Amino acid sequence: MSLCFIQILFKNLFIAGVFVALSCMNCARIGTSCCTHYQIILTTGDIQRISDFLGHQNFFILEPPVLEDIEPDYDPFWMPMVLKPEGVVCVLKRTREKSCVLLTETGCSLPYDRRPLICRLYPYKYTEEGILGIDTDCPISGEKEWGCVLDTLDMPTAKAKQWISLLYAEVRNEIKPLHEAIP
Ligand code: SF4
Ligand code: SF4
Repeated sequence: MSLCFIQILFKNLFIAGVFVALSCMNCARIGTSCCTHYQIILTTGDIQRISDFLGHQNFFILEPPVLEDIEPDYDPFWMPMVLKPEGVVCVLKRTREKSCVLLTETGCSLPYDRRPLICRLYPYKYTEEGILGIDTDCPISGEKEWGCVLDTLDMPTAKAKQWISLLYAEVRNEIKPLHEAIP
């Protein structure tokens, strides 16, 4: 790898990182962050990975679904799969202002590989069949080269497809051994 190529790579990483950081900061400022409002459904795998990291399980709750808060809300098969017989869903706890309890002033308190799969996949839109595109609610979708931005952020479609497979497998309780599925 030539020095020039490395310099270009780092320059692109920097530009994408700054772009996303500014977009996320602006969302936080105007109250439209994707870490607020939504009911983030957790799989048993998510709960295991997060509790292993935090050392406790005081981050999730079973509560009735709020249809306008459910994420993802565009997959017609999602709700029937995640709704428990008691009529509740397993979600991240939220504050009174509807912010995720794991959100801090400097962003998410979890390392990337411990975040719920739904969080890792955002802003991709998807169903069990695959990727549909990018959520137009996220300012990153306004970037003509949003695919390149996500590639540069180490969220390429190839990884997203693995996360989608794991997400639906875990939702269906076909849990693969931890640490096996995601590099
Ligand atoms: S909606 Fe997009 S830009 Fe805004 S906080 Fe979420 S990922 Fe960042
Ligand atoms: S777990 Fe992290 S990324 Fe997901 S909603 Fe909470 S703060 Fe945001």
